[in-house]
Amino acid sequence: MFCARCRDRELRVDDLEGWEVHMCTECGGLWIGGDVFREAIRKPPPATVMSVKGPAPQPAVWEESALSCPACGKAMKKGVYSYSSGVIIDRCEPCGGIWLDRGELAKIRAFVNWKPPQERVLMAQLQAEGVRRRMETQERRWGAGGAMRGRGGLEGLIPFLRNLFSDSFE
Ligand SMILES: [Zn+2]
Ligand SMILES: [Zn+2]
Repeated sequence: MFCARCRDRELRVDDLEGWEVHMCTECGGLWIGGDVFREAIRKPPPATVMSVKGPAPQPAVWEESALSCPACGKAMKKGVYSYSSGVIIDRCEPCGGIWLDRGELAKIRAFVNWKPPQERVLMAQLQAEGVRRRMETQERRWGAGGAMRGRGGLEGLIPFLRNLFSDSFE
């Protein structure tokens, strides 16, 4: 398999966090099978890559790309990944393969894993609220720290913790 960009460079089979990809050591481009691509993009990007919100969604237009698929040799199509990611990728319709230039995987991960700041704050608040309520319930039942004081030792602690983190508390 040769690089879609450098053409005369043979792609190296590489291990990307457990997924098999084909990488060009010259330009850093990646050929990824469609199934692997769909899995790999769900992983959050490294902390150094900012999570981004894409621009307004664009209609999906897939144009002829100048690249040929390294795997099957067919002409690829290029277009914006998932309407609003702002990342232009090349994909091969016949075999489902995806060509990513250097850095594009991280950008797509940043897009896929993006959450609005309000949503992140809300989720943190809900979690904190849930824990607080469960602790209050425990306190009403046994008094503050009662579970641990009253029953003593690890035996008393385990059901206490189990109830604390269980959503189906009575
Ligand atoms: Zn290359
Ligand atoms: Zn192909």
